[in-house]
Amino acid sequence: MTEVTAMGSADNFGATRVVTGTPVVHGLACGPVIRPAPRLAFDIDPAATVDPDARGAEQERFAAAVATVASRFSARASASTGSSAEVLAATSGLAKDRAWTGAARKLIADGAPPAAATIAAIEQIATMFTKLGGRMAERVTDLNDIRDRVVAELLGVPEPGIPMPDEPSVLCADDLAPADTAGLDPTRVIALATRLGGPSSHTAIIARQLGIPCVVAIADLDSVPTGSTVYVDGERGIVGLDPVAEQIAVAIDGHRRAAEAAAAWRGPGQTSDGHHILILANVADGTSARKAADLGILEGVGLFRTELAFLDRPDEPSVEEQTALYREVIDAFDGQKVVIRTLDAGSDKPLKFVTHPDEANPAMGVRGNRIIMSNPEIRLHQLDALAAAAQGTTAVPWVMAPMIATVAEAREFAALVRERGMIPGVMVEVPSAAVQADKILREVDFVSIGTNDLTQYTMAADRMSPELAALTDPWQPAVLALIERVGAAGAAQDKQVGVCGEAAADPMLACVLVGLGVTSLSAAPAATAPVGLKLGMVTLEQCRAAAQAAMAADSTQAAREAARAVLG
Ligand code: PEP
Ligand code: MG
Repeated sequence: MTEVTAMGSADNFGATRVVTGTPVVHGLACGPVIRPAPRLAFDIDPAATVDPDARGAEQERFAAAVATVASRFSARASASTGSSAEVLAATSGLAKDRAWTGAARKLIADGAPPAAATIAAIEQIATMFTKLGGRMAERVTDLNDIRDRVVAELLGVPEPGIPMPDEPSVLCADDLAPADTAGLDPTRVIALATRLGGPSSHTAIIARQLGIPCVVAIADLDSVPTGSTVYVDGERGIVGLDPVAEQIAVAIDGHRRAAEAAAAWRGPGQTSDGHHILILANVADGTSARKAADLGILEGVGLFRTELAFLDRPDEPSVEEQTALYREVIDAFDGQKVVIRTLDAGSDKPLKFVTHPDEANPAMGVRGNRIIMSNPEIRLHQLDALAAAAQGTTAVPWVMAPMIATVAEAREFAALVRERGMIPGVMVEVPSAAVQADKILREVDFVSIGTNDLTQYTMAADRMSPELAALTDPWQPAVLALIERVGAAGAAQDKQVGVCGEAAADPMLACVLVGLGVTSLSAAPAATAPVGLKLGMVTLEQCRAAAQAAMAADSTQAAREAARAVLG
């Protein structure tokens, strides 16, 4: 990411300087910069040893510190809701995890003081997580946070964390640990900007939930002084210093009015000239599906990620149990379109009951539909459960397979789905599937583009890597070109082409996707109203022109600017 001088630029509200990163949550906010209290500077002698007869007491002190820290996380989890609560509960589990506490206990037994043992044990496990990559590597921030809290507890100093500002402020940090972000009050912390973090980091998840603008992966963020006044533009990925007060106030007012208008959007999705686009929900279980349906603005489910319900299960759930779960989602959107994805096990979503070999590169390994290589029966059981779930309802499930790379895979899957009276489709998230979209669409009734993985594989950049966030940006013109190919294939065969990756949650990009021939957009329910509102403000022709302009650009930033110039 580069630093751009922006003296007097109207777009940058007269900021004296801007730094740029990856935009994650839209919105515009302005305030003084605050930063978390600096991490503890550990002044601990690694060579110190504890007398053998005091080691038992030190073990107890260590156990008590771990229990205190873990219970604080659990208490905050109970006081939170939704993904904040999940993140905090998971961190409480990690704080007590034997993988590191066992290692620390052993070091204490050998004479290490508990604080030194904590630091060494966490270091060991953090190195292992970093090597594993993906979601495991993202947990290193959580591990370091746990380390600092346990050490603070052992040393009897206050817990490290984020200051509670007196005035609405912009929180800038390297990355944010769940314990900090989950307790944030969005009326006091009005925007987030981080030096690290990717589109799916905790910072991003929490910012989305709080509804505050967020930009991540800002390489130059340290050059922004604490206490200085900045604005955060979560749509363009900009943090600007010392904007002209009147200019930024007018812009923020415009954003506030737009947010109010979005909240009032009632659907259905269509362009201003009446081109209908299905706006659908991404869900994980019956509860999230019912919540989505209660909004009353969505026309169904565009992606039910079935694997999310079974992440902690040691054994394959029975067909009956699966049937009941799928039925809950079908019932939530009674009679409407429900697209259910077969298990996308592997890589960042490992399932314990799907055995696969140790892989050097799991994102490229036995993941998604490929699990049939070693566990063919798991997919058959799931398809049987899906068919059973629809029995006695008016619904005909749309069932799609993840990680399809060849025409033969699509054909084989479609036959199994049709045999069971359901509508077959596949995800287009591997570039080979996009390139061969015309042939694949001849085998199935619909496709849904997973832009998260399609971007990862097109750009050869791990979607979880904070360093590569600029590459794993679905505005990459190469990704748009592949989507255009799929859209054209769908139009030629009159078949539905959806998008269910994060790209569908970006209002401007959603319009571009429509211009590329996409017929439905599925996203986290909270993100759908701004998408529907934006779509209703532009014509199909504008979407097409924006799509051509974005594809012709030679960078993500240029693609965004080009689309904005057409779409307003
Ligand atoms: C995607 O890859 O865009 C997608 C929707 O699937 P997931 O994020 O679950 O891999
Ligand atoms: Mg995917």
